[in-house]
Amino acid sequence: MTTNNRIFLSPPHMSGREQYYINEAFETNWIAPLGPNVDAFEQEIADYSGVRDAAALSSGTAALHIALQLLEVGKGDLVFCSTLTFVASANPICYLNAEPVFIDSEPDTWNMSPSALQRALEEANRIGKLPKAVIVVHLYGQSAKMNELLSLCNQYDIPLIEDAAESLGSTYQGQPSGSLGKFGIFSFNGNKIITTSGGGMLISNDEEALRKARFLATQARDPAPHYQHSIMGYNYRLSNLLAGVGRAQLQVLDERVESRRAIFDRYKVALGGIDRLHFMPELAGTKSNRWLTALTVDEEENGIKLPELLKALADQNIEARPVWKPLHMQPLFAGSLFYSHNDESCVSEQLFQTGLCLPSGSSMSLGEQQRVITCIEESLMTVSPQSR
Ligand SMILES: *Cc1c(COP(=O)(O)O)cnc(C)c1O
Repeated sequence: MTTNNRIFLSPPHMSGREQYYINEAFETNWIAPLGPNVDAFEQEIADYSGVRDAAALSSGTAALHIALQLLEVGKGDLVFCSTLTFVASANPICYLNAEPVFIDSEPDTWNMSPSALQRALEEANRIGKLPKAVIVVHLYGQSAKMNELLSLCNQYDIPLIEDAAESLGSTYQGQPSGSLGKFGIFSFNGNKIITTSGGGMLISNDEEALRKARFLATQARDPAPHYQHSIMGYNYRLSNLLAGVGRAQLQVLDERVESRRAIFDRYKVALGGIDRLHFMPELAGTKSNRWLTALTVDEEENGIKLPELLKALADQNIEARPVWKPLHMQPLFAGSLFYSHNDESCVSEQLFQTGLCLPSGSSMSLGEQQRVITCIEESLMTVSPQSR
C-alpha cells in the first residue's frame, strides 16, 4: 500500500543556497526594496537570456502591465493575445482600458496560430484599427511558432510581447525564450520553474525602455528632491530579499529544466503506449522546459472521460488540472473578439475539453511519479481494458 501524501502539481523547489543571499541581505541591512541582489539578479537574468537589460518587478503580471504601458497602450486600443493561457496574460490589457482580441492555438505547439493571427491582422487593417501589441504565450514551456508570428507582426509594424512566464529556460532555434520579441516577461510565482515566492522580470534589448520601466515601477518619481510627479506610476519593484532567493534559484535553473524534461519523458515512456493518450508535442528546433507535463485524452464511447480521470487522480490525493480554460470562453471576456485556427476547428476549445496537466515538480520522487502513472493506468483500464 502506497502512502497517500499529496502530490502537488508544481511545488517550489529550493536549491539550499537561498538562505545565503537572504542572510547576506540581513547582515548588510539591505531589507529595503532594491539593493545589490536586485541589480545582480537583473544582470544575471539578462545574461542568461542574451538580452541587453532586465528590470526586476513584483510579478509577471506587473511586467506585462509595464510592457503595455511602454508601448503606449491606452483606452480603446486593441491588443491581440493568445487565448489558451492564464488570465494574467490578458488582465493588464484591461488595466489600461484597452480591448483584448483573442487568438486561437494551432495543434503543433498549442500556442498562437499564425493563420488565425494573419486573419485577425488583415481584418483589423481593413477597418483601420490595428492592435498596439500582440502578446504571445509559450504554454507550459513550449515555444510558439515565433518566426511565423514575428514576420506577421513585422509586416504591420506591431510590437510582439513574449509572455514567457512558463517558459524560462526554454529555447527557440537556440535562442532563449523571451528574448525574441520587443519585450519578454518572466514570472517567479510559487508554482513556476524557479520562484522568488512572488516576482517577475521584464526583459528587452531596448535599454532606454527598461530605464523608463524602472521609473514607472517606482511611482514615476521625477529627478527632484521634493517628490515631484508628472505622470502616474506604480509600486511594482521586486524586493532585495526576494531577488536574493531568485539569484540562488537561477543557479539551478538548467538542472530544473532537465528534471522536468526527465519527468515528461518518464510519463511518456510509461503511458505513451496507450492509444487514447497524446502528449503535448515539442516543435522541431525548440526545446521546452516542460514546466508542466500536458497531454490529451481522446473522447471515446464507453471510454473514461477527462473529468473522470481528473477525479480518479484527486481521489488518490494527486493534484492534476485541466489545461487553461481559453480566455475567449471566460465570463470575464464575454463579448471580446476571437479568431479561431480555421473555419472547421477551434484548437484551444478542443484542448480544453480533452487536455490535462500532471504533477511535474522537479522535486517529485520516482515513487510519487509511479503513483500518478499507476492511477492513470488503472483508471483507463477499469473502463476499457482493450484500450491499453
Ligand atoms: C504565471 C503566469 C503569469 C503571471 O505571473 P505572476 O508572476 O503570477 O503575476 C502570466 N502569464 C502566464 C502564462 C502565467 O503562467
